[in-house]
Amino acid sequence: MSTNPFSLSKVKNIIAISSCKGGVGKSTVASALAMELSQRGLKTGLLDADIYGPSLPSLFQLQDAKVQSNEFKLLTPIEFKGLKLMSFGFLLGDAPAVMRGPIVTRYIQQLLFQTDWGELDFLILDMPPGTGDVQLTITQSVKLTGAVIVTTHHSLSLVDTARGILMFEKVNVPILGVIENMAYFQAPDTGKKYYLFGEQKAGALSSRFGVKTLVEIPITEQFSGDMRAFQGNTYIKKAADELLQVLEQPQTSQMDLKDAGYRDGHVVLVMSDGRELTAKAFDLRAKCACALCVSEVTGKTLIDIKKIPADINPQEILPLGNYAVGITWSDGHSSGIYPYSMFS
Ligand SMILES: [Zn+2]
Repeated sequence: MSTNPFSLSKVKNIIAISSCKGGVGKSTVASALAMELSQRGLKTGLLDADIYGPSLPSLFQLQDAKVQSNEFKLLTPIEFKGLKLMSFGFLLGDAPAVMRGPIVTRYIQQLLFQTDWGELDFLILDMPPGTGDVQLTITQSVKLTGAVIVTTHHSLSLVDTARGILMFEKVNVPILGVIENMAYFQAPDTGKKYYLFGEQKAGALSSRFGVKTLVEIPITEQFSGDMRAFQGNTYIKKAADELLQVLEQPQTSQMDLKDAGYRDGHVVLVMSDGRELTAKAFDLRAKCACALCVSEVTGKTLIDIKKIPADINPQEILPLGNYAVGITWSDGHSSGIYPYSMFS
């Protein structure tokens, strides 16, 4: 296919807003964040890359919008209060999209590369939910500045979030932070916070994955879903503040870790300063703290240690950020993250 890389050449930051499953309010959060950035005077675009269920036309009440192409055969985005919008929904209308992966990917690439974005400070990419091939292809076909993961405070959601973090880490896209949506209920009279899924999990992501929580949005603070009425929101403002702050920091370098391997039943990490960190492979696997191995709710171990093969060994060791490694084990387990602190 012919793509026009120049359509993105004047875009400074491309931020993927991702969720590892549907129903967490990702599109609403992405739209509100784009509106917030735009209202701050930053030139912003919003691409709804969810081809199966484009939500942008209804969020902005632009169901009848018709996209035109310009003399360079680039699609002209629809503008709303200075925010540039593009969605597959503008091209498709209400017709159902029944498509397989490769076609979906091609359409998304067309929307990305054949839209006349012009000069932008931010292009917010509302990713399709999930962590499959389509999502992976998008993360690989465009140079993302980073990803923000929207999740809910529910334990199952945390498992999926771990998957999402791993997907981006694998393709070296930095995770800029997590937005925990529907985090708690705040009593309107007393202001007291009620964590519906257990308060102990607040911050679980940051402690487990070293990923910053940009904001926790209470359940009582859900937007009406009508972006035309969006006038700013305390929590989205905070998310934008935190995001801009994260972007100002120098990106953490991947490479504290120079090499990794397996020796005499131990996982060996060779650090860039020459130090060697080791940990017994069996112990690492047994102490895996991923959500499949340890219950998010009770903190109880879910794996049967006796079932771990005595000769368990790493098939693949990946550096994650500069704080941990992800390991694919010989028993097929791959969702664990092992901070350097587990090694000595
Ligand atoms: Zn595990």
